[in-house]
Amino acid sequence: MTAKILDGKAAAERLHARVEEQVQQRLKRGLRQPGLAVILVGNDPASSVYVGKKRKLCEQVGFISRGYDLPTNTSQSALLALVDELNADPAIDGILVQLPLPDHMDANAVIERIDPTKDVDGFHPVNMGRLALRLPGLHPCTPHGVMTLLRDAGVPLEGKDAIVLGQSNIVGRPMALELLNARCTPTICHSRTADLAAKVARADVVVAAVGKPHFVQGDWIKPGAVVVDVGIHRTDSGKLTGDVEYASAAERAGWITPVPGGVGPMTVATLLENTLQAAEERDAAN
Ligand code: NAP
Repeated sequence: MTAKILDGKAAAERLHARVEEQVQQRLKRGLRQPGLAVILVGNDPASSVYVGKKRKLCEQVGFISRGYDLPTNTSQSALLALVDELNADPAIDGILVQLPLPDHMDANAVIERIDPTKDVDGFHPVNMGRLALRLPGLHPCTPHGVMTLLRDAGVPLEGKDAIVLGQSNIVGRPMALELLNARCTPTICHSRTADLAAKVARADVVVAAVGKPHFVQGDWIKPGAVVVDVGIHRTDSGKLTGDVEYASAAERAGWITPVPGGVGPMTVATLLENTLQAAEERDAAN
């Protein structure tokens, strides 16, 4: 079997076009442009690349994009004061603090300070709780983007056994909740999970978010399974690669996401979608 490619780049472009069209509709109705503030602390090269992409796409779809580049030695209190200021700013619908933060900062405290209605990353406990309770809210971008990609491609999910490798707050945990909400039966694994390969071999849907290049071997994959690779790694030769041994997995899988061009573009597109949603909900509430 050769897997069908889940083309995240093309799906993300369709999502950008939908968001752009809805921004135009808002402007015609006399409503304001949605506004996104992106805060970057320090100069981590990967974070700078992600932030640059987010800001560029914001402008492309017609949002107001505000960038705050703070030095590594910024104090926690100064960052919290900026979050407070943006929480109160009527032109800003979404606040994103790029993670990871420098070691002297408490990321959880910063996330909890963001007004949940402006938490377009979906990491605030209120939004994670709403996801767990199947209530509408701002859902974490990467797992929600994965669901959009799977739905867009018509991948059947209901009743399937799913496995999520990785239990982080930003990917693994919300991914398992999204799959549960789609009526899959998810299992979540981490570094202490026993018989991981055997568990993967039984799964109809595999989501890899381990953070280790080529960790998931192709011969673990159940024939016909859906394989979603969230991992992103830069090889010594400068190429991007994922958590899955792509070539061998693609021979067994029914569907597979490439790296690059799979989950990554969907994460950024979902951030735009969340910011538009936050703007619409704030307008409806006022
Ligand atoms: P993370 O916080 O480092 O979490 C990694 C998870 O993998 C942890 O739960 C860890 O288990 C688990 N793990 C580590 N070694 C394992 C092993 N041998 N067997 C089973 N589980 C193991 O990483 P993350 O933030 O979730 O990100 C994961 C990957 O996705 C990274 O490559 C990251 O760059 C990428 N990412 C991509 C996007 C995108 O848009 N495509 C977005 C976010 C992240 P323990 O909890 O037991 O330590």
